[in-house]
Amino acid sequence: MTTSLVDHSPTLEIAEIHHWIDGAPVAGGSGRTGTVYNPALGKSRARVDFASADDVDRAVAAARAAFPAWSTTALGKRAAILFKFRQLVDAHAEELARAIVSEHGKVLADARGEVQRGLEVVEFACGIPHLMKGEFSENVSTNVDSYSIRQPLGVVAGITPFNFPVMVPMWMFPVAIAAGNTFVLKPSEKDPTAPMMLAELWREAGLPAGVFNVVHGDRAAVERLIEHPDVAAVSVVGSTPVARAIYERATAHGKRVQALGGAKNHMIVLPDADMPLAADSAVNAAFGSAGERCMAISVVVAVGEAGDRLVPMIAERARGVRVGSGFDEHSDMGPLVTGEHRDRVARYVDEGVRAGARLVSDGRAAHAGDGFFLGPCVFDNVETSMSIYHDEIFGPVLSVVRAATYDDAVALVNRNPYANGVAIFTNDGGAARRFQSEIQVGMVGINVPIPVPMAYYSFGGWKASLFGDAHVHGMEGVRFYTRGKVVTARWPDPALRGKDLGFPTA
Ligand code: NAD
Repeated sequence: MTTSLVDHSPTLEIAEIHHWIDGAPVAGGSGRTGTVYNPALGKSRARVDFASADDVDRAVAAARAAFPAWSTTALGKRAAILFKFRQLVDAHAEELARAIVSEHGKVLADARGEVQRGLEVVEFACGIPHLMKGEFSENVSTNVDSYSIRQPLGVVAGITPFNFPVMVPMWMFPVAIAAGNTFVLKPSEKDPTAPMMLAELWREAGLPAGVFNVVHGDRAAVERLIEHPDVAAVSVVGSTPVARAIYERATAHGKRVQALGGAKNHMIVLPDADMPLAADSAVNAAFGSAGERCMAISVVVAVGEAGDRLVPMIAERARGVRVGSGFDEHSDMGPLVTGEHRDRVARYVDEGVRAGARLVSDGRAAHAGDGFFLGPCVFDNVETSMSIYHDEIFGPVLSVVRAATYDDAVALVNRNPYANGVAIFTNDGGAARRFQSEIQVGMVGINVPIPVPMAYYSFGGWKASLFGDAHVHGMEGVRFYTRGKVVTARWPDPALRGKDLGFPTA
């Protein structure tokens, strides 16, 4: 990678980040920029261009111009570029992970894991010749054959959140591009460097200019993108209000849309569970990445006598989480992404205390220099009427709700409007089996707190965590980025000449 796009070291250096259009960096024309922070230092490290409608139009025009040649490039050649891209991402995984830490703040090991999970989608997409195969039926009528093919849509757009600047875009574009589409990515304005590095790696892999483009920015860029007449489909991952608004607006403009929203993930712990395992899992899943994961556990539902044994174990483990810079190998948890977000999360903790929940681990005093730090906070005796229960906080705050029975716990989870991920901890196979059937959530873990599906399955929630009917990657991703066509064919046979106005039968 030749990039000098931005300095990835933990030290401070202000850089400018431009768009990536038609295979090269392009300065924006709007004059508007955003500040990119190094959250561990609490200081700005870069300025990122915010796209105007004209900038978005340029990116879409480049993608549109690239589509005819790319969509007709032989499957084997497309796969070869995917393989090369996979090799380059792997070779540059450490630089990508360091860029993530510099702007998101998560710890380096976690950032490496993020790159790995993104890479797995590229590996899945390398199989595109197999994934695009259609079906063939011989003799659907006498001497008539029928077959189905899947074809790419055209220019497709991806709008992604700050919390996985590599993995979430890579849920989308490897499959979209492998299937023959061209792509315009609007990544989060909070950590835009890693997506630019991916653009460079695509170029190095031999992807033709214009097939992958990046425009940075805010609502203005998104609105132009989702209304653009040359954009055929939109994938968005973000908070529920944003995902819902984009879904409604983009579908109103005739786009195919998949929109993944926010979450409030519950972990039910039955009294027969392995309590130390459940406590470890709750803490790992609540405070990994400072709780800024859409699959983070934010509510533990302790059933019956489980709570009295579990809560002290969780509190003790939470107090032992080491908070510091993501580059420090002793840190378990980094800062929050911005000072504004840290303050918002801290306000929720204050609200929880005022509402009468019992704060058994208080991370509000955690700080290191000017960084946007907040330590792990654990509440017990949380009621569903409290804001710490019903709002998505997206920070290191874990609520424990008590439930009398398994049925009460399941009913509580099923009443929640979000339905991204859920887990149950139990040693009772029958209870687990009932749970997987009765729970109304898209991704279910059984003694697994963060049940993120592998790339060859599809990822997505239900209810207010998903708008549209397609999950990302896996076969749902392939279907989302292609459309079906069925051909009915027969070869001329003089014996078939003659008048026949009837509806054909076999
Ligand atoms: P966000 O909703 O603020 O932003 C998501 C994207 O939309 C960004 O690119 C942003 O620039 C853009 N955007 C923001 N406001 C907009 C507006 N008014 N109109 C149009 N576009 C707008 O989300 P975030 O804070 O970057 O990320 C965290 C959220 O994403 C959390 O709610 C989290 O649960 C969710 N998330 C969900 C999943 C999932 O798979 N369901 C995965 C990761 C993150």
